[in-house]
Amino acid sequence: MKSEECKIPKTLGELYIVATPIGNLEDITLRAIRILQEVDIIAAEDTRHTLKLLNHLEITKPMISYHRHNEEVKTDELIQKLLEGKNIALVSDAGTPIISDPGGEVVKVALESGIKVEPIPGPCAAITALIASGIDAKEFTFLGFLPLNKKNRKEKLRQIEKQETTTILYEAPHKLMQTLEELSKITQNRKIVLARELTKIHEEYQTGTAQELKNRIQEPKGEYVIIIEKNEKSEEQEQKEELNNKTLEEHYRYYEQKGLDKKEIIKQIAKDRNVNKNQIYQKFI
Ligand code: SAM
Repeated sequence: MKSEECKIPKTLGELYIVATPIGNLEDITLRAIRILQEVDIIAAEDTRHTLKLLNHLEITKPMISYHRHNEEVKTDELIQKLLEGKNIALVSDAGTPIISDPGGEVVKVALESGIKVEPIPGPCAAITALIASGIDAKEFTFLGFLPLNKKNRKEKLRQIEKQETTTILYEAPHKLMQTLEELSKITQNRKIVLARELTKIHEEYQTGTAQELKNRIQEPKGEYVIIIEKNEKSEEQEQKEELNNKTLEEHYRYYEQKGLDKKEIIKQIAKDRNVNKNQIYQKFI
């Protein structure tokens, strides 16, 4: 047997994406603990931070730092180790890796390289906040942190203004007041819940409109998730959408049955469809 052949491992390693606590150290699954015990290497966003968790769990393991600023280089290193047959657990500082955290790149390349990627589910601040917020959880949109770039931020705020599902945001304490100020201009009376320090000693939920919360909060401290109630469409908007989905003839007949004359009907249809009334007029001559 040639010496190169001896180096080829029988199996590739596996990449485990392991969720860790977002505060309370009891919030870690039995499976997550077993995987952290069994893998060869732990790839951690901040090795000092993860060391505290590992000490608590009495686990000693080699660690590789994997964070936003070295993601590209470290992806190559991790993939190489996986190809050599090493099993790796990827963790972030808190919660579910990849969700507003690094890790997406290594998962992508691992899958492209035929490496098995296994999720080990557990805490995620967004979901934890949502389930006790009292805000509709049937449909929601997670936007992570609002962008810092002015133009992109404006676009996201516009999206939130119209959003017809619950919105979930992450926010840092020093930016909370600015974000509430911006939200107060677009969310009016919509309910907002601030979920602070989840699973920790000072966990609290504060509810109100953006303006009320802004007036109430003196000094934001700790970690925050912002849950924003959906934008309920007004009856008028709903009716308009329904009419616009009809054919022009059906739309016409609707107003005709209401007793409007031809001129009024054309004006109304043009208004509903946000087009020039001459355009509608042309269709009916
Ligand atoms: N990957 C993490 C997860 O699964 O939730 C999120 C990481 S992101 C870098 C950190 C943000 O998550 C914080 O700024 C805060 O908005 C939110 N967060 C994390 N832990 C939290 C907690 N215990 N209470 C409230 N928000 C928290």
